[in-house]
Amino acid sequence: KRKQIAIYGKGGIGKSTTTSNLSAALSDLGYSVMQIGCDPKNDSTTTLRKGKPIPTVMDTVRSGSNKLDNLIFEGYNGVHCVEAGGPEPGVGCAGRGIIAAIELLDNNGIIDDIDPDIVIYDVLGDVVCGGFAIPIRQGIAEQVYTVTSSDYMAIYAVNNLFKGILKYSGSGGALLGGIIGNSISKISQKEMITDFSEKTETNVIEFVPRSSTVTKCELDGVTTIEGAPNSEQAEVYRQLARNVINNKDSYIPKPFEAQDLADWAASWINNLLKEEKIEQNGIRSG
Ligand code: ADP
Ligand code: MG
Repeated sequence: KRKQIAIYGKGGIGKSTTTSNLSAALSDLGYSVMQIGCDPKNDSTTTLRKGKPIPTVMDTVRSGSNKLDNLIFEGYNGVHCVEAGGPEPGVGCAGRGIIAAIELLDNNGIIDDIDPDIVIYDVLGDVVCGGFAIPIRQGIAEQVYTVTSSDYMAIYAVNNLFKGILKYSGSGGALLGGIIGNSISKISQKEMITDFSEKTETNVIEFVPRSSTVTKCELDGVTTIEGAPNSEQAEVYRQLARNVINNKDSYIPKPFEAQDLADWAASWINNLLKEEKIEQNGIRSG
């Protein structure tokens, strides 16, 4: 049975980096993978394609072309790459690309023809509105994952996403598969995200450290899995891939109310400040 997941998170938080490494790791494990970028930035799949951009579904639609074979491009180890694309800047709803992509690919049976084992939607998740909510609302994805750091704005976006998931959970919407902590370089950041997951009755599926290997590989136009397969970072992404494959659990999150979230974050600031002080003084104490 095909597994369809969607990965949400604030812009710039590491969704595409994490998703592309996940896709690459899954394809190395022998799965046939399709990655669909649902972000007007159109750069979801570039590190799967040696840094080369691909035309978007919206470009193809706008050009009036009905050549459907111009939508899917081959990436690393045969990963099927799609970029939904977005509206022209300043015009129309940013979610239109997703709607167009899903209509074209799903409704025309194109995904069925390719028959991938796993479809991963990489979705800009600041706004759980219109098109961006479609993978959740229509239950297209069976599980939603979210990438976050311990930064307040990133967690704030996750909390909003949880509100969206909760809202559609009673009507066949996708549920949460788990949180992916990204750029985790301190114990307290791990603890903070773990605490957030406990308070919202969800779970953390993997912690991904901040790593210059990721940056180096990105500058070379490749994923860490391709560019540094023997690195510790690549092993983290492979572990993430195994965890996602084996994860059969889905959660209905219990999001914070706005004020409660702010209070919760404030209560964590002291811990983070304490840790910074320890670092500055070069001492560690219990
Ligand atoms: P998004 O898709 O959420 O907008 P990207 O995946 O494009 O974010 O990542 C934004 C930037 O952060 C990129 O330059 C990427 O290389 C960097 N990045 C993401 N995750 C890590 C990490 N674990 N270590 C180092 N750099 C990272
Ligand atoms: Mg992205």
